Amino acid sequence: MLRSIKEKIRTIPDFPKKGIQFRDITTLLKDPDGLRDTIDTITNRYKDQKIDVVVGIEARGFILGSAVAYCLGVGFVPVRKKGKLPGDTERMEYDLEYGRDEIEIHRDALKYGDRVLLIDDLLATGGTSLAAAHLVEKLGGKVVEISFIVDLPDVGGHARIEKEGYSIFALCEFAGD
Ligand code: AMP
Repeated sequence: MLRSIKEKIRTIPDFPKKGIQFRDITTLLKDPDGLRDTIDTITNRYKDQKIDVVVGIEARGFILGSAVAYCLGVGFVPVRKKGKLPGDTERMEYDLEYGRDEIEIHRDALKYGDRVLLIDDLLATGGTSLAAAHLVEKLGGKVVEISFIVDLPDVGGHARIEKEGYSIFALCEFAGD
């Protein structure tokens, strides 16, 4: 656990609705040491892992994922909310607290056998990142690991993702939700 990174994340209570403790990474990203430590720590972990592609999840996964891809010398692929990608896509539905949502990836974004690093900012229920992992596999990619800045293990996503056999890396954890 990286305390210097955790300390730079701001918590905003009751956003976007009452009862949610919003873990705001904008304060970490605007801090030059915080941004560098975040990207360097993730990059160093994967530099010898033969990653072919970094896949980032909309929207904060784009900020981290593109910087990590650049540092690893590989390409970046976005997973987007439905209706945003212009080409042929694969879609995956996933549960939200109320209702369902869909994410998409371009069908031609990955090659069969590509070793993929999947990145998002925060792991809560795991619904979003699991759906993204399934999309990667639908295209024949192999998810090497799913990487986050923040893990909220008490919400249950960590256990849920591990149960499906994926490996998780997070820079810090917060107790509760
Ligand atoms: P989940 O699919 O439940 O794991 O939710 C993950 C997505 O929701 C992440 O991409 C986060 O950006 C966002 N999210 C969920 N809970 C929080 C929270 N407490 N603070 C900040 N972002 C959150």
